[in-house]
Amino acid sequence: MILLNPGPVCLSPGVRRALLAPDLCHREPEFFALQAAVRARLVEVYGLDPSRWAAVLLTGSGTAAVEAMLASLVPAAGRLLVLENGAYGERMSAIARAHAIERVRVDAGWGGALELDSVERALDANPGVSHLGVVHHETTTGRLNRLDALGALCRRRGVQLLVDAVSSFGAEEIDFEGWGLAACAATGGKCLHGVPGLGFVVARRDALAAACRPARSVYLDLALHHAEQDRGGTPFTPGLPAFYALAEALRELAEQGGWRARQARYRSLAQRVARGLERLGIEPLLPAGDSSVVLRSYRLPEGMLYAFLHDELKKRSFVIYAGQGALSADLFRISTMGEIADGDIDRLLDAFAEIVRTGEGDPE
Ligand SMILES: *Cc1c(COP(=O)(O)O)cnc(C)c1O
Repeated sequence: MILLNPGPVCLSPGVRRALLAPDLCHREPEFFALQAAVRARLVEVYGLDPSRWAAVLLTGSGTAAVEAMLASLVPAAGRLLVLENGAYGERMSAIARAHAIERVRVDAGWGGALELDSVERALDANPGVSHLGVVHHETTTGRLNRLDALGALCRRRGVQLLVDAVSSFGAEEIDFEGWGLAACAATGGKCLHGVPGLGFVVARRDALAAACRPARSVYLDLALHHAEQDRGGTPFTPGLPAFYALAEALRELAEQGGWRARQARYRSLAQRVARGLERLGIEPLLPAGDSSVVLRSYRLPEGMLYAFLHDELKKRSFVIYAGQGALSADLFRISTMGEIADGDIDRLLDAFAEIVRTGEGDPE
């Protein structure tokens, strides 16, 4: 099966083999070495200085990492401004609500562009805002939110920038120092090509040192995980196979040329898909310049239901992804993250051509 959903991804043979590594106790030095290697490689993905930045690992999905970042790094007296233009921005707001973090929001509507002016107005109207939460790649629609000017604004206002980079880490540019990030949350199971179940936060060490005390959560307390991991330990039982997989996936990423090479690879696959679909009259939701290289949303062919398209493609070994929520009636999504070959895309496009032809021939 070729997975064209935004994670879990098709694994490389090396990552699949890594899952079969020997049984391991997480209180033994072999695990501490594995954990230290994964943490070091994560900080290396964007060439960060390990004396200023730390990767903190957390067994859980991407949402666990985002929740740990927000619940841990916004202090009790802090206030969070959340920028929303899709389901994951809304999720950041839901997390803030669940932890009783004081919160204001700027809502650009699903798929809309985040305008700097409206962020500036929200900061003017809410001088107590200490942190800003934003999704880098809003997987709901494929829009890549631009963080350079936003980061500069946060820096001018003394606001800490917290980024959901779950579906961009490893495949899009993230200029931690230049954009002034305090932290970003991500997962090993998307653009890094590991398996689901291991989330992480890459944070400035001084932001971790200022973590909320008392903690809002026991399991999602980043400062606790950070202290234990720096000491060469772990507070809870980690998802070991996901560690093995991510260690190998990060080794392969570095060997293949790092995030820049992955970005180029994803872009080439995404363009192959877009050009092929365009020939069939299937239009993208957003112009290529507004989209990530990771995922694009397309309009369903006139009169075709998503379920029909999905099932016909699945019969031919391809899994695509529905539009989220209300968008499911009009859109479908294709992500080219994971171990995908050019030939897979060519077969996908052949399948599309066949389905569009028969779909039109069928008066049903
Ligand atoms: C996938 C994703 C998440 C988290 O999803 P999980 O199912 O918890 O792994 C969060 N934010 C974005 C932008 C995502 O794409």
